[in-house]
Formats: sequence, C-alpha cells, structure tokens
Amino acid sequence: MNVPNSYDIDGKVCVITGGAGVLGSAMAKAIGQQGATVVVLDLDDEKLAMTGDELDEMGVEYTTIQGSVLDRAELEAAAETVVDEYGRIDVLINGAGGNSPEATTDEETDFFGLNAEGVENVFNLNFLGTFLASQAFGEYMAQQGEGHILNVSSMNAFTPLTKIPAYSGAKAAVSNFTEWLAVDMAQNHSPDIRVNAIAPGFLLTEQNRYLLLDDDGELTDRGQQIIDHTPQDRFGDPEDLLSTVLWLIAPGSEFVTGAVIPIDGGFSAYSGV
Ligand code: NAD
Repeated sequence: MNVPNSYDIDGKVCVITGGAGVLGSAMAKAIGQQGATVVVLDLDDEKLAMTGDELDEMGVEYTTIQGSVLDRAELEAAAETVVDEYGRIDVLINGAGGNSPEATTDEETDFFGLNAEGVENVFNLNFLGTFLASQAFGEYMAQQGEGHILNVSSMNAFTPLTKIPAYSGAKAAVSNFTEWLAVDMAQNHSPDIRVNAIAPGFLLTEQNRYLLLDDDGELTDRGQQIIDHTPQDRFGDPEDLLSTVLWLIAPGSEFVTGAVIPIDGGFSAYSGV
C-alpha cells in the first residue's frame, strides 16, 4: 500500500490572521518548522515584531503584515503582497478572534445591560473577520484551483457557554460558515479547495490563567467545572492543537472538507452524566 507523506507541507505558502496571538504564533512556528513559508497578519505591531523575532531565530521563511481582518481593502492589499512575493497562497488560517468584557455578563451587567456595540465588535471580529479574509485570500485559491482554509471555532459553537452570548453565537456562525464555504468552494470553484475548522476546548494560556487557577495554583470554581466536564481530566495547551492543524492543511487529509474538529479532551462529547 502506498501511504502518502500526509504531513508534507514543505514549500507551501501559509497566511495566518491573528498570527501574532497565542495560538496563531504557535501555529506559525509549527508550520514554519515543517518547511512552509509563513505570512503572519495581525493588528498588533509589537506582537508582530515579537513573532517575527521568534520565527527568525528558528530560521523560518516568513513575512509579517500589519492589518485588520475587518478591512477588506487591507486584506486584498495583503493578499496581493503575498502573491507578488511568493507567487501563490496555499493555506489561510483564520486565527484572529476572541471575546471582550464588553460582551460578557457579570455581577454588574446582566443580559439586559449588554450594549450593541460590544456585541457587534465581538461578532464582527470572529465571524466577519473570518468571512472577509476568506474572500480576499480565497479568491487567489479559486484562481489557482487549489488551497485550504482553516477556521478557528470553539467549544461554545456546539453548546453555548454561560456569560458570553456574542462570542458563542459568533463561533457557531464560524462553524456554520465553514460548512457553507466548503460546499461553495468544492461545487463552484474547485474540489481541491478545502475548508475546515478546529474547535479548541479549554486551553490554559497566560490570558485566561487568572480565570481558571487562583493565586495558589488551585482550580477556581469555573476551572473545576471545566475539568469536571473534561473526560481527559486536564486543560489543553496550544501545542495540543498543532498536529491536527498540520494534518488538516496537509495533503493527507485531502478528502476532508466542511469538518469542524473538536480538540477538547472529550468536553463536547460528555453530557455530564
Ligand atoms: P489572542 O488574543 O492571543 O490572539 C488573537 C490575535 O488576533 C491577537 O494577536 C490580536 O492582535 C489579533 N487581532 C485582533 N483583532 C484583529 C483584527 N481586527 N485584525 C487582525 N488581527 C487581529 O487569542 P488566542 O487565544 O490565540 O485565540 C486565537 C483564536 O482561537 C481566536 O479565534 C479564539 O477565539 C480562538 N480560541 C481560543 C481558545 C483559547 O483557549 N485560547 C479556545 C478556543 C478558541
């Protein structure tokens, strides 16, 4: 039996939005380490410079581009820059996203107190940012007749988490759009353009450590509830995502499109009893 080298992405050109963030930069390093060229697009100049330094140290071929996933003109200019420099775009990872306190209920602000602007910002960053980047970079894939778009959904796309209705709704929309775009690309552009998503579970990162662990390193109530609902009995870390990301953007998954893959230690499979 001839099993292809399923992880071979050597020489591919891979754009990552939000690529200077916690997960985006981990993906950039892993993908660069496999011999692909990485284009890191992010809003934050300082984080872009830090990610660039790390990629430099690793000897990865890369470019950084400052820009917003909410600005179609900036995204189109970025896509043109990538094609001018490298001749093609093989992979787009839509990593820009996240929640905000302005769209989160707490002791002071209940559901009725949430304002439209906060909800709109979170919804737009996660959903519209994925949509617009897929248009700008995906159009080149349609011209090439091949490519891969990988979206970043979340656990709360399957069942919403408490407190964060806009983020939950936006990630549900990202999962739904992943399926929609997979069909549209395959039927109307090329069967060799695939669209998938990962749905990370609860990862312990510097940004949410204070929510999940107290000062003594013990689980907070919310942290304990998460662990109680995670059959594998631990938080994930960014490295847990990487082999699935590499598999999804590599030729070895060539018959996989429209899939939203949970990477969650079993959280989404567990009803709680
Ligand atoms: P992060 O905040 O570290 O990274 C997000 C990056 O996006 C940042 O570098 C930020 O500067 C950038 N960004 C923000 N607005 C932008 C814009 N308009 N245009 C371009 N870039 C912009 O967050 P993260 O934890 O690395 O999350 C990455 C993705 O993974 C997000 O979509 C998030 O919702 C999702 N996710 C994260 C977790 C987790 O536990 N960390 C779990 C599930 C899903």
